[in-house]
Amino acid sequence: MPLMDENLTAIMDEVIARNPGETEFHQAAREVLESLGPVVAKHPEYAGAEVVRRLCEPERQIIFRVPWTDDAGRVQLNRGFRVEFNSALGPYKGGLRFHPSVYLGIIKFLGFEQIFKNSLTGLPIGGAKGGSDFDPKGKSDAEVMRFCQSFMTELYRYLGEYTDVPAGDIGVGQREIGYLFGHYKRITNRYESGTLTGKGLSWGGSQVRTEATGYGTVYFVSEMLAATGDSFDGKQVVVSGSGNVAIYAIEKVHQLGGRVVACSDSNGYVFDDAGIDLELLKEIKTERRGRVEDYATLRGGAVRHVKDASIWEVPCEIALPCATQNELNGADARTLASHGCKVVAEGANMPSTPEAAVVFHEAGVRFAPGKAANAGGVATSALEMQQNASRDSWTFEHTDERLGAIMRSIHDRCLETASEYGRPGDYVAGANIAGFTKVADAMLAFGLI
Ligand code: GLU
Repeated sequence: MPLMDENLTAIMDEVIARNPGETEFHQAAREVLESLGPVVAKHPEYAGAEVVRRLCEPERQIIFRVPWTDDAGRVQLNRGFRVEFNSALGPYKGGLRFHPSVYLGIIKFLGFEQIFKNSLTGLPIGGAKGGSDFDPKGKSDAEVMRFCQSFMTELYRYLGEYTDVPAGDIGVGQREIGYLFGHYKRITNRYESGTLTGKGLSWGGSQVRTEATGYGTVYFVSEMLAATGDSFDGKQVVVSGSGNVAIYAIEKVHQLGGRVVACSDSNGYVFDDAGIDLELLKEIKTERRGRVEDYATLRGGAVRHVKDASIWEVPCEIALPCATQNELNGADARTLASHGCKVVAEGANMPSTPEAAVVFHEAGVRFAPGKAANAGGVATSALEMQQNASRDSWTFEHTDERLGAIMRSIHDRCLETASEYGRPGDYVAGANIAGFTKVADAMLAFGLI
């Protein structure tokens, strides 16, 4: 693994000192900084202008109170966040996460990742992330609506199609985007479609946005496989998670001839040797807002629900972690490698621990980091912004083609950049360096900002 030079080590120490306790942010920053040694050696102008140091400090951070009333009329309180990390390439862009684990360190790690991911898409979008420790699980639609309205009542003043454009993430789907957009429209008196992405198709949304993160991850893996003359055909695949990313990753793997035999949620995983029945999974997750355990019950037969166990114990040739951060650790990575897994691509943000990444590297498992492999979601958000700006709407086929081309170009740029900087085949180095240089060059061009 590459070491950081003295200057990068000092920046990393400063990140830790200035952001105490924000371990996920430290992890995300370290992972990028560890790739930048050869870049700053080749480009002394970056060090001279302290580009890396400035990049590690968000341009703006907003933390706010979100009061709301539950269905019993009791006052509830949550905390809202928006970290506007970097706007060198375009308006701040990135999702909102509603989950009880959310605190500043999670939002900062996600916002930091988003800078490089968005840069890799080649589209004009800066990096941001937001959210709340609100837990939508078990809440009524009316409670979710009141929460979203209260959240937007504060956040709206920081948003705008040229300023900051949120979207969904864990716990925020089309229902929440609807409530947020409706309230934004009402308080601003502007039908400003390009202020939020992930909208419904009848009110400014884009075809393929729902499918884009999962589809994009699988398109990326197709390119990884094609690079060695291989394909999905006949491959056994494991996809962790069972939310939006996982569902559409499974769908695309099946369309390309692979077989996904397991998926999961926070209570455990289901193993279905015949291949996950996607219609059933979709119905359980999107209509009933249920759990994967219900899948085993309803599907019956030989399907097993394994409680409180790691899905990575299921043998596979391709693993797609699509659940959440740090869901795949060093021991899981060793298990995957020992079962003959050859390719891992992150559909979620930072699902592999640093130790897992080292294990993959040493075992020769080809590993694509989330900022490259899951960029299809935000890329399609940028396509949604394009359609909103031109008051147009594209067909599913056209949008899907654009997504495929973007994922191909990210894949190729990762490999080319990795080779250029002496790390052939290293998707982590390629993604970090290619994502970084575009942002760094824009920051240099702007003078001291
Ligand atoms: N939350 C998604 C991500 O992690 C998408 C963000 C967006 O579409 O703005 O990239």
